[in-house]
Amino acid sequence: MRKKPIIGITGAYVKHNNYMEGVYVHHDYHKSVAANGGIPIILPFLNKEMSVEMFSICDGIILSGGEDVDPQFYGQDPHPHLGPTIAERDRAEIALVHYALEHDVPMLAICRGVQILNVALGGTLLQDIPSQVNEPIQHTQSIDRSHDSHWIMIEKGSQLAQIMGEERVRVNSLHHQAIDTVAPDLRIVAKSADGVTEAVEYIHPTTFTIGVQWHPESMSSTTPQMNNLFGQFIQSCMKLKS
Ligand code: MN
Repeated sequence: MRKKPIIGITGAYVKHNNYMEGVYVHHDYHKSVAANGGIPIILPFLNKEMSVEMFSICDGIILSGGEDVDPQFYGQDPHPHLGPTIAERDRAEIALVHYALEHDVPMLAICRGVQILNVALGGTLLQDIPSQVNEPIQHTQSIDRSHDSHWIMIEKGSQLAQIMGEERVRVNSLHHQAIDTVAPDLRIVAKSADGVTEAVEYIHPTTFTIGVQWHPESMSSTTPQMNNLFGQFIQSCMKLKS
């Protein structure tokens, strides 16, 4: 009998050439899940229906990083600095968000993941932080992705503050987009000094539903707090399984 929970990680898209085209997930996600007692599997995106079928075998879901969200899903035209988008992936992940919330499946949303979580629930995004935020700090660090580059302030009493054990934390930063208007069913629980949203939680929590704008999977092997985020998430997935 399988004892470990299956953690589905949504895939990004890569096309090297006509012979190499498919899904991509950074190896740090697999390592962080496995190190905390989960079985990582990669979810390709095909269509909405297949995404939900794939998801039905998962005990938890990680919405991973990747392409910008197509602004059509939050009612906007593209900003000149919008990056590459894949509407099919967006549709699949929006369906996953609704499935997870309806079925109380734990969800950890990372980087693009927190953005699609917000869009799926009716929020909007800043399409390009440097051109849309007043006096922004640097959110696209040029140092290695495993290193921290800026501070975040976490709301006292939030689930995230409990997991991190501190209210002022150092994070890495590899994003040029962020949440603008937060969805009605989410609340902002962390911000950077320039006011950019760095984490949200679901306001009707029945299970683990946290979204973070940084990449904890690339810090978890060196930073116990970041590893704890995966530890708490996977523990929630075990509860669902039992
Ligand atoms: Mn950041």
